[in-house]
Amino acid sequence: MKVCKLPAVKSKEDVYKSFTYKQNNLQSEKFALVPFNKRIVFAPHCIRNIAICVAIDKGGYYTCTECGGCKINILSKLIKQLNYKTLYIVKGGRSMEKIVKEEKPEAIVGIACFFEGDQAFKLLKDTHIVLQFIPLTKDGCTATDIDLTEVERVLKQIN
Ligand code: SF4
Repeated sequence: MKVCKLPAVKSKEDVYKSFTYKQNNLQSEKFALVPFNKRIVFAPHCIRNIAICVAIDKGGYYTCTECGGCKINILSKLIKQLNYKTLYIVKGGRSMEKIVKEEKPEAIVGIACFFEGDQAFKLLKDTHIVLQFIPLTKDGCTATDIDLTEVERVLKQIN
């Protein structure tokens, strides 16, 4: 008897993953042409160590005070060293849209889960803003994580 093989069904996560990686590849050359001081970084607030975090609440986002309680401390220091425009520890999509309108960056480095990365590429597709997405290595609502080596590699891309 001949057995029909059904095509493997991709999970939503796999769809977001392949879309975001493809977009990263497509945009990486343009991204590398943007000077550091025209780039901003979005990191999600769920990376913070909320038990001790003393970041300043600015309404739609937080500003890290570099207390050393989570990996954003290192990220914050690195973007200052490189002379990036600003690091925003964002609370949600709406505040990101507002920041983009006000700051008018030429490029964005966005750290998020794959779903949010997918949404960000779609939101920016009709603009001239270049995006590089870095997925969280552990997602969720709290105590999420990032790969700092990968973050540094992406931040330092320059032509
Ligand atoms: S390093 Fe920054 S974001 Fe992390 S816990 Fe301290 S103040 Fe909060």
